[in-house]
Amino acid sequence: MEALKQRIRAEGKVRGNNEVLKVDSFLNHKMDVAFLQEIGQEFRRRFAGCQVDRILTIEASGIAIACLAAPAFGNVPVVFAKKNRTKNIAGDVYISQVESFTQDRRPYNIFVSKEFLHPGEKVLLLDDFLANGSALQALTDLVRQAGAEVVGAGVVIEKAFQPGGQRLRTDGVRVESLARIQSMSEETGVVFCD
Ligand code: 5GP
Repeated sequence: MEALKQRIRAEGKVRGNNEVLKVDSFLNHKMDVAFLQEIGQEFRRRFAGCQVDRILTIEASGIAIACLAAPAFGNVPVVFAKKNRTKNIAGDVYISQVESFTQDRRPYNIFVSKEFLHPGEKVLLLDDFLANGSALQALTDLVRQAGAEVVGAGVVIEKAFQPGGQRLRTDGVRVESLARIQSMSEETGVVFCD
């Protein structure tokens, strides 16, 4: 998605030892709603012809992306996995574990109520970033626990120099990323993406 790549090059800020890209000016803090709607339409184009019964994402950054993509998919329901750091959750939920990319790789649980994922459903995963793949792997796990099917994973920005994309694809998940970062430098501020 050319417009996205241009914005990443112009507005992205490289942090965290060349590993973290901040796109707070349109995606992760201030949100450009019209642009997020375009991103939603691009996801629809990428997954054209695929049945999508619901969209699953993870709080917090995935929620806006999923909600603004849902109209392009016929206003299918959006479900977001909740984060819980206590590790003890009571009730009828599917649980999986994520290794946090941004918070020192600390593991935490995510969960979705069994009410909101059902056997046989075709579920599209959406998220803002793909790094090591832990978040999307955990979402895939929740869908499979429910006996539902992952249609694919749509990510706005894949950091292709990190292993998540390959891990998911090896696991049989179709991954569509709208921009792929090949390298980036905190020192020069230059971000190479395709
Ligand atoms: P993964 O689980 O693939 O290692 O990391 C994906 C999650 O970590 C995403 O949900 C995203 O919120 C966060 N994340 C990973 N890399 C970045 C990054 O470079 N920038 C930002 N803003 N978030 C990231």
